[in-house]
Amino acid sequence: VSSRSLNTLNADLETFLSALLKVTGKDNLLTDSADCWSYGYDNSRLHHLPDAVAFATDHEQISAIIKLCYEYKIPVVARGRGTGTTGATTPVRGGLVLSMERMNRILDMDPDNRSITVEPGVTNQQVQDAAGEHGFFWPPDPTSAAFCTVGGNLAYNSAGPRAVKYGTPRENTLGLHAITGTGESIRTGVRTTKGVVGYDLTRLLIGSEGTLAIISEATLKLTPKAQSKHTMQAIYTSIDGACRAVSSIMAQPTIPCALEFIDAAAIEMVRSYSPAKLPEQAGALLMIEVDGPVAGIKHAVDEIRQAAQNEDLIEFINAETEKDVADLWATRKALSPALRTVAPKKINEDVVVPVSRIPELINGLEKLAQTHDIKIVNFGHAGNGNIHVNLLIDPDDSQQMQRADACLDEVFSLVLTLNGTLSGEHGIGLVKREFIAREIDSVSLQLMKAIKRQFDPHDILNPDKIFPA
Ligand SMILES: Cc1cc2nc3c(=O)[nH]c(=O)nc-3n(C[C@H](O)[C@H](O)[C@H](O)COP(=O)(O)OP(=O)(O)OC[C@H]3O[C@@H](n4cnc5c(N)ncnc54)[C@H](O)[C@@H]3O)c2cc1C
Repeated sequence: VSSRSLNTLNADLETFLSALLKVTGKDNLLTDSADCWSYGYDNSRLHHLPDAVAFATDHEQISAIIKLCYEYKIPVVARGRGTGTTGATTPVRGGLVLSMERMNRILDMDPDNRSITVEPGVTNQQVQDAAGEHGFFWPPDPTSAAFCTVGGNLAYNSAGPRAVKYGTPRENTLGLHAITGTGESIRTGVRTTKGVVGYDLTRLLIGSEGTLAIISEATLKLTPKAQSKHTMQAIYTSIDGACRAVSSIMAQPTIPCALEFIDAAAIEMVRSYSPAKLPEQAGALLMIEVDGPVAGIKHAVDEIRQAAQNEDLIEFINAETEKDVADLWATRKALSPALRTVAPKKINEDVVVPVSRIPELINGLEKLAQTHDIKIVNFGHAGNGNIHVNLLIDPDDSQQMQRADACLDEVFSLVLTLNGTLSGEHGIGLVKREFIAREIDSVSLQLMKAIKRQFDPHDILNPDKIFPA
């Protein structure tokens, strides 16, 4: 029996489902196609119908479920809230979707050791709220925080603007409780802020997209909230000027807690679709935030202002009031709605290049846009060199779709030529797996597949993701 959809294994389907029902109880199992339908997609808009959906309730129950899946060789896809963008949550082979949405308890808040232990279905925002009551925050800050889960954040190593100063889940997780593809339990990492005993399985599981183990509990490292924060906006005539400023800002001691970038095409779009006022000559824009003790914040702002100076700078705005801050962010926030108005679909990539290579990336993207006649708009986390490259397309125009595919292929080649990486925070999933061998050498790929076999000998945990079939 191979790992295939239950639909094609009717005899085993009956036996598997009745065994599964004994583990989950009827309130934690869906088998009707209509009920299972909405668990078959994620934010990539790809869809595959699972044969059943089980709701995880605790570690032991997950272990029992995975042991059954192992015995019957049933594919199983862990699901947070399905906000991921690369199709990693879609059950391509059917089988079981294991939803974490009911495992949403905060298990332990430990201010004395600056940590919080949570179940995987807790949302990012719940963590921030609980930590905030004690004067802490968890640094990973995806825009989807209100909906996405800690399990999803860990499995994708998801982050946001704060990563430039505070890092991603890999730098902010102490340890995990998890279940391998055989149903066995493992505890990874430490509950201390230092430790070097054995291999670092915590960092291995983080970013593994549910292909190595199901995370049932996570102990997260918290950071004290800064006393104060200050927002600035710098506008440049050219992309080169803005990027020189990014390198200078990142090379001085005051690390910003956000350093976001918008290119000329994005500025033009904001101009057409929002009331935000931007100078005529604006060719690139930086949003910069610094945080720290009240006593040092003015000095930090001065350092940033100095580092941001160059001959291409045309405007530097310092937010003095809450309203000023909201006005400055309005430009950045106008982008997503504007993108939706301009084109029916966007292919949103999240490539990363070393910060000094951002101008070459943006100039190269401009050329690719012309060559393939595709509109490309770029913005993102400049301090990390993590740029969201948006190809704006009409899915009903088949010729344009073909041109977009060819263009995307060259975008990835360009990124790799610049010593970059294909994904900073969205992962590989289904949509980028054909490109992974361009970045990772064949020996490393073989090692990764061997690691997968050790964790998941029957290839039941989120099969067909990350690596090409
Ligand atoms: C409006 C919007 C804004 C976004 N903004 C950002 C952003 O700023 N930064 C960013 O990085 N991403 C962003 N995203 C993408 C997405 O929100 C993140 O990738 C998020 O971490 C996914 O969480 P989720 O709970 O929805 O996970 P899902 O999409 O359900 O799952 C994601 C992956 O995690 C695996 N998984 C889930 N739970 C577990 C578990 N317990 N154990 C093992 N594997 C598991 C799944 O199998 C899958 O591979 C955005 C998405 C949207 C829709």
